[in-house]
Amino acid sequence: MNAILAVKDLKVVFSGFQALKGINLEVGEREIVTIIGPNGAGKSTLLDAIVGKSPVASGHVYYRGKEITNKNRYEIARMGIGRKFQNPNVYNDLTVFDNILLALKGTHSVLASIKSKLTKLKKARIEAVLEQIGLLDKAYTKVSSLSHGQKQWVEIGMVIAQDPTVVLLDEPTAGMTSEETHLTGEIIKSIAEDHSVIVIEHDMEFVKQIAQKLVVLHQGEKLIEGSVKEVQNNAQVIEVYLGRERIDVAA
Ligand code: ADP
Ligand code: MG
Repeated sequence: MNAILAVKDLKVVFSGFQALKGINLEVGEREIVTIIGPNGAGKSTLLDAIVGKSPVASGHVYYRGKEITNKNRYEIARMGIGRKFQNPNVYNDLTVFDNILLALKGTHSVLASIKSKLTKLKKARIEAVLEQIGLLDKAYTKVSSLSHGQKQWVEIGMVIAQDPTVVLLDEPTAGMTSEETHLTGEIIKSIAEDHSVIVIEHDMEFVKQIAQKLVVLHQGEKLIEGSVKEVQNNAQVIEVYLGRERIDVAA
């Protein structure tokens, strides 16, 4: 497999505390890698280290074979790695359409993007993103009147609008109803038709819906990587993580 993104023996240390103790991970083209693990396992830190937000103490991050370890986060984003954070970061007073417009590549300020002439091409691109996140019929609705789940989709749309190759999503279904969670799974699967995706998630139903490759982190280490079934059957995983909400493999 040709990895689009590769993490080799990655270590992150916060004032003496080893948050990541040597992680290896590869993400292929159009692959969805799902990361689970207890709180504090280092899941968000791993995404932070990939996008240049947390300093890497040792080890490497490669994007399309090129080392990007500890590069400037804006440069990493420009290269094609898009990241959604845990809390939606959207413009509540603007419409859904304008939020996506703002995120489009090459649009540098709120004012400039709102005032700039909307080319047919831009409009079509925004509508394609809105369709992908299931909000085409809400294009001219203010984000403030959307549900929490719909706001999360707007932010996913803002990431997609930047035209990344790799999309990193940190707990995208947090606070969603089960119906919204399911729809999010379908959105992520459609995104993976032309992107590589890493998703951090807790909800095991959702994990089963989307996961191709599942990775379990625990105390800064990778416990196991494999299919959902392989992970569900791993005794150590059941002990440290799944024990609380054990899943019926046959379900
Ligand atoms: P997860 O996302 O798996 O819940 P995190 O990656 O957020 O876990 O955190 C992993 C560990 O690193 C936790 O013990 C957390 O307190 C610690 N940590 C995360 N970010 C920082 C930081 N900026 N400074 C110090 N410690 C941090
Ligand atoms: Mg986290």
